[in-house]
Amino acid sequence: MLRIKTIFVLLVGAVLLFSACDRTKKTQTNTTETTVTLPAFQNDSAYAFVKAQTDFGPRALGSEAHENCRVWLLNKLREYCDTVYNQNFTAKTYDGKSWPCANLVGSFGPEKAKRIVLAAHWDSRPFADHDPNPDYRDTPIDGANDGASGVGVLLEVARQLHENQPNVGVDIVFFDAEDYGPKESERIPGDWWGLGAQYWAKNPHIQGYTADYGILLDMVGTPNARFLQEQFSMRDAGDLVRKVWSTAYELGHGQYFQNKPGGVITDDHYYVNKYAPFKMIDIIHYDAASGTGFDPVWHTTNDNIQNIDKNTLGVVGTTLLQVIKNE
Ligand SMILES: [Zn+2]
Repeated sequence: MLRIKTIFVLLVGAVLLFSACDRTKKTQTNTTETTVTLPAFQNDSAYAFVKAQTDFGPRALGSEAHENCRVWLLNKLREYCDTVYNQNFTAKTYDGKSWPCANLVGSFGPEKAKRIVLAAHWDSRPFADHDPNPDYRDTPIDGANDGASGVGVLLEVARQLHENQPNVGVDIVFFDAEDYGPKESERIPGDWWGLGAQYWAKNPHIQGYTADYGILLDMVGTPNARFLQEQFSMRDAGDLVRKVWSTAYELGHGQYFQNKPGGVITDDHYYVNKYAPFKMIDIIHYDAASGTGFDPVWHTTNDNIQNIDKNTLGVVGTTLLQVIKNE
C-alpha cells in the first residue's frame, strides 16, 4: 500500500488489554423503570465484515472480485446510511494501464454542518511483492488487514450509528485504488498510491464539500497492534491525533494507542491533506521490528483472514464511536 520514508524507533513490550464499553439507557414506563443495555461496537460483526470482503477474493483493480465487492459495499452502506454515493473514476496506474474505479460514500445527517469523515481503502494490492516466496510476488493479495480491516470496522461503526444517530454529520468514505503503487523492485517515482483519495480530494462527492476533520484507518486488524502517532498526521493535525489517542487511553486502550512517534507514511490521508480543505489523520499499525515498519504479512499472500484479530478491530471501533459521541 504505502511507503515509509523514514523510520523512527520504538519497541514496546506487549500487554494485551481490552475493555468493552457498554452504553446504557434508562427508559421509564408507567410504573416500572427498566435499564436497557444498548449494543455497542460488536467485534464479531466487524470481523464478519472483514471476512465477507476477503471471501470475494483479492479485490485488485479490474477483477471480478473487485466489482462484486463494490456492489456488496454499496448495498451495506445503503442499509445503514442516510445517503450513499458511488463516485466512478478512471485510475491511471504507473504501468500505463487504466482501470474503472469507484469511491463509495455513506453519509449520516447529510444536512448537518459539522461533519467528520471516516475513511479506509477497499481495493487490495494486485501483487504480493513482499512475499517471502519469490514465486508469489505477482499474486494478488487478500488484503484482509491492508484494506478490508479498516472497511470492516467502518461498516460496523455505520451499523451502530444507524441504531444511535450521531449529533454530528458523519461521512464514511471507502477509497478505491490505494494500493496499486509500483512494486518494491521497480522504484518508479510519482504519486502512484492513493489514487482514489487523490481523485476524491480534488473532486469531492458534493461540490464544495468540506468536513471538520477526517480519520483514516489502515491495517487495524493486527494482533496486539501498536498505533503510534504517524508523522504526516502529527504535522498536519497534531491536536486531532492527541484527541483521538487520549480518547482511546480513557477507554483503556493505551496499550494499543501509544503516545510515541510512528513512521512517515504516504497513505490516503497524505493526499487528502494535500488537496482537500480539511485535515485527516491515519490510525495505522506500526512495527519497527518488522523491517518494513508494518505487519509481517504486509504485501504478502499471508495477509488473509487468519491473521486478523477481532479484539484489535474492537479497540479501534469503540474509540471511533467514542470520538463521535464526544462531539
Ligand atoms: Zn498496501
